[in-house]
Amino acid sequence: MDFEDTKEEAEFRASVRRWLEANASKEVDDAADVLGERGGRDWMKAQRDWQAKKAEAGYARITWPKELGGLGGNAIQQVIFNQEESKLGLGGNSPFAIGLGMCIPTLMAYCAKEVLSRYVKPALYGEEIWCQLFSEPAGGSDVAGLRTRAERQGDDWIVNGQKIWTTGAQFSDYGLLLTRTDANAPKHKGLTMFYLSMKSPGVDVRPIKQASGASGFNEVFFTDVRIPDAQRVGEVGQGWQVALTTLMHERLAVGGGQGGSCWRWRVSWNSRTVPQSGTRACASGLPTGTCARPV
Ligand SMILES: Cc1cc2nc3c(=O)[nH]c(=O)nc-3n(C[C@H](O)[C@H](O)[C@H](O)COP(=O)(O)OP(=O)(O)OC[C@H]3O[C@@H](n4cnc5c(N)ncnc54)[C@H](O)[C@@H]3O)c2cc1C
Repeated sequence: MDFEDTKEEAEFRASVRRWLEANASKEVDDAADVLGERGGRDWMKAQRDWQAKKAEAGYARITWPKELGGLGGNAIQQVIFNQEESKLGLGGNSPFAIGLGMCIPTLMAYCAKEVLSRYVKPALYGEEIWCQLFSEPAGGSDVAGLRTRAERQGDDWIVNGQKIWTTGAQFSDYGLLLTRTDANAPKHKGLTMFYLSMKSPGVDVRPIKQASGASGFNEVFFTDVRIPDAQRVGEVGQGWQVALTTLMHERLAVGGGQGGSCWRWRVSWNSRTVPQSGTRACASGLPTGTCARPV
């Protein structure tokens, strides 16, 4: 198999290099935040500025159609951009990865144009951050067994329950939330997906302190959280199918989208003098050396 660039890919790579040389900020230091704290105001501002620059040039999401702020390009072009970006030490620890890689593509698949025109651009430009609220203490690998319930009340749903391992919830503006809406249906059929503001009354985000000292993940508690039915993603009872859409995008985002930033981070991490257990989260938020996570 030939892994070299085709002529067109080589031209695209050269144009990306030219753009990066002219625009890449020296201020964005991914390595400064490899443990996933991500909360530092300067670090976040630098990430947001860099994201906005990429979005302006169409490089924030190369495969998205131009009308949604992408470049209308292909997956190989995205990998090429990621490779070139990661050579500069950029792009590997993005707080926007879950929103752009998983949540927004799910909205694109199930939501109306008005929803997309409200949420896509702010996410693309790094103005709004999204998280994925699927896993629960008793519903990890068996995510369809989750217990967070949503009960219909007029035009709203009232949500009670708990999520765990929610990457970046502490700095997220919005979340994609999988709930149980029918306790009597077979478990895969009683689920419904919503999106919600993480600032909604009754949402309580508690960072999990890892052995490393960082808090890449959170517990998120929901107490009588009110979500308008208009924020439902897909049909009532269709949540499992919607979740699979998210997870398919996650595979692509995690498996194909890093473009070399994982190995780059590992090299920088392994060159440090502190002892390594080999299980720390990598720059992309993944366990070192795996580039895939259990779902
Ligand atoms: C880096 C990272 C980031 C994450 N970010 C998020 C996020 O943003 N949002 C989110 O919702 N979730 C997130 N998760 C959670 C993740 O997607 C999984 O849901 C979770 O890690 C698995 O659940 P658990 O930890 O409860 O493990 P369990 O489900 O308890 O599994 C423990 C072990 O038992 C094994 N096991 C489970 N069931 C079986 C079975 N039937 N037969 C044989 N073996 C079995 C598993 O393979 C595993 O080895 C993240 C996880 C990681 C590692």
